[in-house]
Amino acid sequence: MKLLALIATAAALNAQTVVFHVVPQETVLARLHQAARNNQDRESALKKLFEETGCTGQSLEEQPVKHVKIPNLICTLPGQTESRILVTAHTDHVKEGDGTVDNWSGASMLPDLYESLRDTPRRHTFVFIGFTQEEEGLTGSRFYAKGLTPGERARITALVNMDSLGLSPTAVWLSHADPELAKMAGRVAGATKLPLQAVNVDQFGESDAESFAGLHIRSITFHSVTQQTMGILHSNQDTFHAIHVDDYYASYRLLTAYLAWIDKELDAEKPPP
Ligand SMILES: [Zn+2]
Repeated sequence: MKLLALIATAAALNAQTVVFHVVPQETVLARLHQAARNNQDRESALKKLFEETGCTGQSLEEQPVKHVKIPNLICTLPGQTESRILVTAHTDHVKEGDGTVDNWSGASMLPDLYESLRDTPRRHTFVFIGFTQEEEGLTGSRFYAKGLTPGERARITALVNMDSLGLSPTAVWLSHADPELAKMAGRVAGATKLPLQAVNVDQFGESDAESFAGLHIRSITFHSVTQQTMGILHSNQDTFHAIHVDDYYASYRLLTAYLAWIDKELDAEKPPP
C-alpha cells in the first residue's frame, strides 16, 4: 500500500449554497456504539436507527438477496429529480473482533447522513444502502448491481461508499475513485478545513464499489486505513477502542458536506416544472 500526498485544496465552497443539518457528536458516537455481535442483529439495529431518524414505511426496504439469509437494507430519500446518488456501506463483519471499524463505522453513519440531508431540498434522490455479506465476495452489492435495469443504472449519478472509518483522518481510495468525485472531495475538505488523505488499499482487498465498476457508474470509497492501522482490520483489535472519536466525527462532517456539495455540483435531470 502506498501513501499518497494530501489532495485537499484551498478552494472555498460558497457556504450559502450548501445547507445541511449537523448531527451532534454524542449522537453519532452513540450510534457507533451499537455494533451488534452477529450480522442479523446488526441489520436489525441499522433498520431501527433508520426508523428513529425518520426513514420508515415505503422509504425503508429490505431487499432479499439470493442464497443469503440477511437482506440488503435500502432507505430512499426522495429528491426533486429521479437522478440518484447512492450512499453505501456493508453491514456484515468477520468473526474476529466485533467489527466496529469494519464496518459498523460505515453502516451506522448511513442514518447520520440521512438525518443530515433529510430536511433540506435536494436535486438528487439519495439512496442509502447497507449491503449484506461484503466479507464473502461482495455478495449483497453484486446482487444489487446485477438487478439494476439499464434505465436505473443510467439514473445513478454517483456512488459514495464508506468502509472502515475512524482509525485515522478520512482517507479516499484514490486509485479506485472517479477523478471528478475525488477532486470534489479535495475541494470540500479544503473549504471545511477537515483533513483528507489519499491512501490506496489495492493490495488489501476489495470493497462494494467494485461491484459497480463495470456498469459505468462513477464511484468513490472513503475509509481511514493506513499502513500503520491496517493490521486492526479482521483482527481482535477491531473494537470501539480502535476508533479515534474525533477523526470519526470529522469524517461524518466531511461526508455530510460532501454529499450536499455533489448534489449541487453533479448533473441531475431537470426538475419537473
Ligand atoms: Zn469492510
